[in-house]
Amino acid sequence: MMNRIYKKIDNGERITKKEAIELLEKGDFLKLGELANKIRFKKHPEKTVTFILDTNINYTNICYVGCMFCAFYRNRNDKDAYTLGIEQMRIKIKDAEKKGIETALIQGGLNPAIPYKYYLEMVRKLSKSSVHIHAFSPPEIDLMAKISKKSIKEVLIDLKNAGLTTIPGGGAEILAENVRKRISPKKIDTDRWLEIMKEAHNLNIRTTATMMFGHVETKKDIVEHLIRLRELQDETHGFSAFIAWDFKKENNELGKRIERSVTGIDYLRIVAISRIILDNFDNIQASWASQGKDVGEIALHFGANDMGSMLVEENVMRQAGFRAESTIEDIAYVIKKAGFQPALRSTEYKIVKYL
Ligand code: SF4
Repeated sequence: MMNRIYKKIDNGERITKKEAIELLEKGDFLKLGELANKIRFKKHPEKTVTFILDTNINYTNICYVGCMFCAFYRNRNDKDAYTLGIEQMRIKIKDAEKKGIETALIQGGLNPAIPYKYYLEMVRKLSKSSVHIHAFSPPEIDLMAKISKKSIKEVLIDLKNAGLTTIPGGGAEILAENVRKRISPKKIDTDRWLEIMKEAHNLNIRTTATMMFGHVETKKDIVEHLIRLRELQDETHGFSAFIAWDFKKENNELGKRIERSVTGIDYLRIVAISRIILDNFDNIQASWASQGKDVGEIALHFGANDMGSMLVEENVMRQAGFRAESTIEDIAYVIKKAGFQPALRSTEYKIVKYL
């Protein structure tokens, strides 16, 4: 069975859900890397690995949803709860501009007290700078639709008119209902997440897709997640990249209940399987900020063609007790050492500069 699946992938054929589960469960580690790497070079024959200079601004940490894995959110009355003013954000973006940062990933908790006009004003004001505004994952778009009493399409049109052109793929975690019900029961469900992405793609707003694994999900759930993404990508071709990161246990409820830990090998298997299943995605990221530079470097030989971002400000993972700081030179060195030419890129995955 396994040889037949390997052969199918080697011939460039699409694998089924059943085959993908079999592959993730029993596939040989190095064989997965070899097959994923072959697909990577078919899509990107040049030996370039990209990354982006990025800042992460979290406009509020107030959130009513309370996902079990989240170390970032606060209740409205907590001492350290905050919501940034637009002017405060403009200053942060100005600062980012001075540092030559390419993009600002802007996300926040689901805070129903924020009025709809805040989001539109934020995009309008911030998108005037040279820093690209990459903002609002599907759960935030859903909240905007609720507070404005508009449809998802209307909200996205408003945001687009204000200057938004790309959306991050957060809030996906695992796109399988049995998992979502356990770890984030108050968050939007799989169908809603995909519906919002579909609407965005139909309006020519490009998005990424993400997955957070290594908690209560099974291998079948991971494959389900990837197949749902592949199906939507067949329809819209609106996903620019896929990014997987592993669950961090520190400072959150879920972490206290989870025994398992994700190893480098687990992570690399996920990168490889993602490259193989997501045959209609151009870019697969190695999230070095999630598993460290050593694993990130090896991931470049397991199907990844992008090293993600070099973050200047990152609250969410830091709150979970994880810091992986770096410099442009460090990342470029890691990429070169792995045998590739490093290059800075834009949010749209266009090369900005070879290093
Ligand atoms: S992950 Fe997002 S939606 Fe869930 S609790 Fe944290 S901030 Fe809120």
